Amino acid sequence: MPTKKIVIKAAAKLATKSAPKLATKPASKVSSTKGIVKTVPVKAVSKEDAGLPLSVVIRRRIEAQKARFHANDNIAAFIKPGELDGLVDEVAEKMQAVLESLVIDTESDHNTQNTSRRVAKMFVKEVFNGRYIEQPTLTKFPNVSRLNELMIIGPITVRSACSHHLCPIMGRIWIGVLPSKESALIGLSKYSRLTEWVMCRPQIQEEAVVELADMLEKKIKPIGVAIVMDADHFCMQWRGVKDRDSKMVNSVMRGAFLKDSNLRREFLSLLEKR
Ligand SMILES: [Zn+2]
Repeated sequence: MPTKKIVIKAAAKLATKSAPKLATKPASKVSSTKGIVKTVPVKAVSKEDAGLPLSVVIRRRIEAQKARFHANDNIAAFIKPGELDGLVDEVAEKMQAVLESLVIDTESDHNTQNTSRRVAKMFVKEVFNGRYIEQPTLTKFPNVSRLNELMIIGPITVRSACSHHLCPIMGRIWIGVLPSKESALIGLSKYSRLTEWVMCRPQIQEEAVVELADMLEKKIKPIGVAIVMDADHFCMQWRGVKDRDSKMVNSVMRGAFLKDSNLRREFLSLLEKR
């Protein structure tokens, strides 16, 4: 086991970022009169896709590659530039139908006149954006000073939603990395970026931390990676048991963190102090 010095880095808080730049060619025409959002279905390019909703066109591309498209999967590779705006239009139209089925008078209720569109935009371009945009580029640096000390990054603010109810999950993540002399290091802010990309999808906390650990192992090739996530689940607080204090804590330990109980203890004890 290499000698370890403790390096604790404060993580940048994840700011709510505006949507990434995308081609803004309108994929469909939307007219809004007195709260009724009418959306003309997006016309796809190829002949056999003509007249199909954009979601079906994208779904066909995914199925042709036999890829998975669960709630927590990223499907950016199947979406062409400009199509996210078309998806917003399609979701807005269907969200309007949901509001109508909830017997909400979106015509005279000024508060809900544009709710369908706001929710659609929020899902596609903000809170579930990690499904639709490419993985953030991670500049890797060679480990020139041959660091092999325990690094702890965190707390990184986590904003996600459960895939069961689409209720918010708000919490914090700490990442422990024990790099090898050969590891490629990534900039500190990239841990936050990568975390945000994974969390901005309907998720299950247990799967989200595993996905993040897999990704970090693949990118950094460290001797060990550890992740602890501590979060409030609004599907327990807002609905269901309505327990305001219920929290969920998960951890993933890989490599040295799994084998070396001293290292694991050291990591966990440092988190308790924070
Ligand atoms: Zn839930």
